[in-house]
Amino acid sequence: MTNWNHRRPRVTYLSGGGSGIGLGFAKALIAQGGSVAIFDLQMRDELLAELKQACVAHGQSVFFYPADVTDPQGMDSAMGLAHLHQGPADLAFNCAGLMRNAVFTELPFETFVQVINVNLIGSRNFAASALKHMASQGHLVFMASLAGIVGSYTQAAYAASKFGVVGLAEVLRAEQKLQGIDVSVVCPGEIQTPLLDYEREHGSDVTRQLNAVAGVLTVDQAVAGILRGIQRRQFMITPGFKAKVIRAVARKCSTLQRWIVDRNLARSFRAKHPSAALR
Ligand code: NAD
Repeated sequence: MTNWNHRRPRVTYLSGGGSGIGLGFAKALIAQGGSVAIFDLQMRDELLAELKQACVAHGQSVFFYPADVTDPQGMDSAMGLAHLHQGPADLAFNCAGLMRNAVFTELPFETFVQVINVNLIGSRNFAASALKHMASQGHLVFMASLAGIVGSYTQAAYAASKFGVVGLAEVLRAEQKLQGIDVSVVCPGEIQTPLLDYEREHGSDVTRQLNAVAGVLTVDQAVAGILRGIQRRQFMITPGFKAKVIRAVARKCSTLQRWIVDRNLARSFRAKHPSAALR
């Protein structure tokens, strides 16, 4: 946990720290003595109090700044405050995100736009504001998904947003190198969080079966893998062995990957609709 290639981040700006992976990441950073500025729509008082109580190192702090990543001016103001209270960011991690899945022909326009706004435009807004407040040799990290590399059933909006995040990260990686800032993008498979609970409750069984190939990680497992990648400043970070294999196959042999998706999709679909004729 302490093998940082660069110096350990003193201050981290983190969106989506009020739940799931972001919250687990905030806890891990605080346990390592770091200060965290959390940007989220909301944060439960008892959670914030718990994080503050865990700050024991000299000068360590946790602040919550209510902010919506889809609002560029709001992000700018919130990060301006974070800089004032906690100093520049050694690490800035955009972890806020939203998943709403349905077969494309049943996915309302408004839902599609909402997912793109939070995941892709939100990543743009977070990065644009964070880059104004980065410490020298800082590290900017985006949260994408395996859905940003592989097209899965019912994930048209989510995949479009996450493929966009991977593209954004690719360009910023090259541009920001000139400024001494490293950029990474995290592409995990499924992780047991409230976002996944929502998908299990409202999503398709076929999608669940397809995505099961990559395995499901606990938040602690995912955070440990993400932290390792960040410590090493890897560009593309995928926690979990199975998810890593899928990422490698998809990027190195996309035809094989599509064949596997088609075969698994046909199997899952047949199991669910035995009488349906598939072309
Ligand atoms: P989560 O729902 O537990 O947490 C998401 C957080 O983002 C919440 O605190 C929420 O309030 C915040 N958020 C949502 N919209 C926001 C907005 N407009 N402005 C500011 N904050 C906002 O979900 P999670 O599973 O922890 O997801 C975190 C990230 O990881 C997301 O980007 C998600 O797409 C990605 N991801 C999740 C999984 C998974 O299976 N859980 C897999 C791959 C990638």
